[in-house]
Amino acid sequence: MKKYAAYVAGEWVDAGADGGNAIVDPASGEEVSQAPALTPQHVDAAVGAAQRALAQSDWATDARLRADVLLQWAGRIERNVEALARRLTLENGKLLGEAKFEIANQVNVIRFNAGLARSLCGHSHSLGARVMGVVLREPMGVVAVISPWNWPISLLVRDLAPALAAGNAVLSKPASQTAGISIEILSLLVECEGLPEGVVGMLTGSGGSVGQAIVEHPGVDMLAFTGDGATGKGIARDAAATVKKVALELGGKSPFVLCADADMEKAIATLARFIFFTTCGQICTAPSRLLVESSVEKEVCERLAQAIDGVKVGPGLDPASQMGAITTRDQYEKILSFVELGKKEATLVAGGEPVAGVDHGKCNFIAPAIFSGVDPQSPLVQEEIFGPVLTVQPFASDDEAVHLANSTPFGLASGVFTQNLDRAWFLSRGIKAGTVWVNNYNRFYAETEVGGYKESGVGRMAGFDGLHEFTQTKHINFDSTE
Ligand code: NAP
Repeated sequence: MKKYAAYVAGEWVDAGADGGNAIVDPASGEEVSQAPALTPQHVDAAVGAAQRALAQSDWATDARLRADVLLQWAGRIERNVEALARRLTLENGKLLGEAKFEIANQVNVIRFNAGLARSLCGHSHSLGARVMGVVLREPMGVVAVISPWNWPISLLVRDLAPALAAGNAVLSKPASQTAGISIEILSLLVECEGLPEGVVGMLTGSGGSVGQAIVEHPGVDMLAFTGDGATGKGIARDAAATVKKVALELGGKSPFVLCADADMEKAIATLARFIFFTTCGQICTAPSRLLVESSVEKEVCERLAQAIDGVKVGPGLDPASQMGAITTRDQYEKILSFVELGKKEATLVAGGEPVAGVDHGKCNFIAPAIFSGVDPQSPLVQEEIFGPVLTVQPFASDDEAVHLANSTPFGLASGVFTQNLDRAWFLSRGIKAGTVWVNNYNRFYAETEVGGYKESGVGRMAGFDGLHEFTQTKHINFDSTE
């Protein structure tokens, strides 16, 4: 069991006598880490230090310094991928291979943002013979990044790197379940040469206490939140009291539109990978609703059943496992309740049985489940389950596919599989979602923006828009007319 300290106002703060929050390995039920349960007073101290750092250092104005610090951080992560990935698997339950990918990919994301730091620019306008308008992009100030546990390092770095690149001070509030690995990633940043004290803080503790104190603090200028829709709505409401800028990256119920002419082998393998195997479907963009052309529904269901037949669900550190553990006990119970609902009101195509030979009182292992014959208004179709549960709905025309795709409150992501270019364009244009992957799924790049339509969010992360999200513009007007 590893004890972690939080990082507040340039100092490491340990958990104190009560030991802090326990983090339990979801594959064994064993306690693997402890992180401090900080208080609103710690939040206040961290905000004060961040404000002082911005006022007294060159951080906000020296893009080369920021790029240099980010590049050092990327190099430190790159040299420690293996150990960091093991800790990620212990706290999150995901497969070790996926954890290595998650950690290693941050090197690429941080390096991209280091480059962006030096490319951040505004624009100027000639507004008359003696009038010039200069529009600057300035940092927001003190930014808080509040992140979830499913891809905890990707989602932390996705916001933290551009926020720093843009010249902000950043306070991170990681998910309690994955606080240990989040602190390890942050500790590699705070050791970088040239980073002014106070520019970065890590505030561990519960969302209801530390998170809420951050949301309400008048010295925090912007909140970048990734998590559940209900939490996000509450944060947006509470942030309005101090008129903070809020970026929300929320949940999804993403459609995967499968046309009869698609490359079936690739489509089935891709769908199974991202709804069942990767993080056990605990992905905001998980393709949880299969919309399949009715002429191939039966064949597709058979192929999907084969894809999950005999799948090995087990500890992420076991190389034989094909699926890891559900990260939290609450999430495990929520998924099981949806599986029970599906068995009552829909047709179970395959899966849905308890994983054999494990202690279900301690280990969060769940096998995939596929349901057809679902009512489009059922919670199975309308609500985010965030687990390895797939619903299947047939469509007879492309218009119907678009209609079904858009018939939930969400609009985060989607997939279209067809070899017909005209259909690909029609479907992609019609679907209301921040991302449409054509003939692939769940491909993320540092260069391309992500974000949600409808109740899946506000604002965009990654790419140029992701950097701009962490800035505000200022117009300086030079006027020498008489
Ligand atoms: P969550 O319960 O909303 O928690 C997210 C973060 O918010 C955690 O750090 C949590 O702290 C904190 N928090 C909770 N209540 C708070 C409050 N009142 N004020 C401030 N912070 C608060 O979400 P989750 O269960 O960790 O994550 C799963 C959800 O995230 C799913 O809905 C998923 O779709 C969504 N997600 C979205 C994206 C995207 O990019 N759109 C990516 C990944 C996940 P504690 O951990 O201490 O509770």
